[in-house]
Amino acid sequence: MYGQSPESSAQEHIAAAAPVPAPRQHLLNATLVAGVVLVACVLGILTRPDHQLAAFWPANALLLGLLVRRPALASPVGWAAAALGFIAADLLTGNSLPTTLRLTAANLAGVIAGWLAFRQIRREDRLLQRPLSMLWVLLASAVAAAAATLVGSVTAHLLVHMNLAKAVGIWFSAELVSYVAILPVVLLAPSPRALAREFQQYLLRVRRVPGMWLPLVGLAIAMLLGVVIGGPGAIAFPVPALLWCALAYRLFTTALVTLLLCVWTLIAIANGIIDLGLQGDSALPVISLRIGMALLVVAPLTVAGVNAARNHLLAALNHAADHDSLTGALTRSAFLRRGRRLLQDVAREQAPAVAMMLDIDHFKSVNDRHGHAAGDAVLVAFVQRARGLLREEDMLGRLGGEEFAVLMPATGLHDATLVAERLRSHASHLLALEDGRVLDITVSVGVTLQQPHEDDLPLEVMLKHADDALYRAKAMGRNRVVMDPRLKG
Ligand code: GH3
Ligand code: MG
Ligand code: MG
Repeated sequence: MYGQSPESSAQEHIAAAAPVPAPRQHLLNATLVAGVVLVACVLGILTRPDHQLAAFWPANALLLGLLVRRPALASPVGWAAAALGFIAADLLTGNSLPTTLRLTAANLAGVIAGWLAFRQIRREDRLLQRPLSMLWVLLASAVAAAAATLVGSVTAHLLVHMNLAKAVGIWFSAELVSYVAILPVVLLAPSPRALAREFQQYLLRVRRVPGMWLPLVGLAIAMLLGVVIGGPGAIAFPVPALLWCALAYRLFTTALVTLLLCVWTLIAIANGIIDLGLQGDSALPVISLRIGMALLVVAPLTVAGVNAARNHLLAALNHAADHDSLTGALTRSAFLRRGRRLLQDVAREQAPAVAMMLDIDHFKSVNDRHGHAAGDAVLVAFVQRARGLLREEDMLGRLGGEEFAVLMPATGLHDATLVAERLRSHASHLLALEDGRVLDITVSVGVTLQQPHEDDLPLEVMLKHADDALYRAKAMGRNRVVMDPRLKG
């Protein structure tokens, strides 16, 4: 399983936007929108061969993705800024005003239609979290592409007498492939901070899992074969490697790799690096190629989405299996399993370890006097409080009804005594009852410790020693901490 869900980083990104006073916020938003549109347009215009339409047009998809990610940007000011960005880019790169206005109208029509289409799509689908999500993104992309095509190609036909069928095909296919390839990357992009964190996780994983790079190597080989062999089938050569990426990497990484492959394929074919062997001046092969690429993107992203959903579900199931549903403490079996692993690490590092057994005193009478629900609430509050007193690396398990165990790695006798005493004393004033009274409980604690130079005791033996000490604490009148008598010997 590969880390947390991409959703969390996307949410973090949205939440990270700090509140800024309204006028300044408008100005920032407008600058962001106009800036993104301008830069993306200039990039697209640079790929326009001989004043034809651009080979790859990222501006509309970037703008749409940005507006879907941050709906606050889709204000009248935001739309005006977008229009300004489109107009400025075209004028700056030498287009006439009528052409500029015509292209801007087409671009905006597409983005507005896409924006309206995306508003019908559920949030989980926008984050590609469900099996059919990518089909919904494809549908919204097709709506956006169709709207841009309607305005763009019809005006092209009327103004510059371009063949209508050809204009429709060229326009629609270029828009579709840009939207389908770019939107997932924008919709899933983590915040810079989350990106840096994820990158570090990847580096760690690469060290631990030597085969991590293999899907990318497979993709590079497929791309090379596309160049060497060529022919109409070449665009499908990377499909197995893309599916491998989808199963091995995070959703965002898969979206990014797929986008890069699309851009590479379109540019390589346009420049003759990949020779599809299609002769003639007909626009059909280009149109077919772009639509083919757009549909090809759906496969790895659907697989990645299904895989992410499955990993999410497995993580939730694992969590549910390992944690007690009432208190959230580790279950007995999870405590024993994880505890054994923790003790192995501790032995390797030659550090001491502490085990404690805790049992709430006269808990039966809490139930008898205040009811079972109050008893449950006591257990929850007790675990919460105990968790607050322990370190992140300490383990807390619920071994039975009102019986808990704690395992603390790299902890000496002094700290063990201190923590045990704190756990005991913090059990008082645990819960306020509905009638205003405070429910007081006491707890008995048995503590044992394993020094690094001793024979490494199995967890079960440590817990038995702690349990013996707990038994003595009960016998001595409860509400006390008793150390394992072996420690004094
Ligand atoms: P001692 O001081 O000797 O430990 O006395 P005690 O009453 O705490 O111990 P005993 O083992 O006799 O009783 C434990 C009680 O804990 C009995 C059971 O009803 C109660 N109990 C166990 N699990 C739960 C639970 O999940 N919720 C509630 N409310 N009570 C529970
Ligand atoms: Mg008890
Ligand atoms: Mg008990």
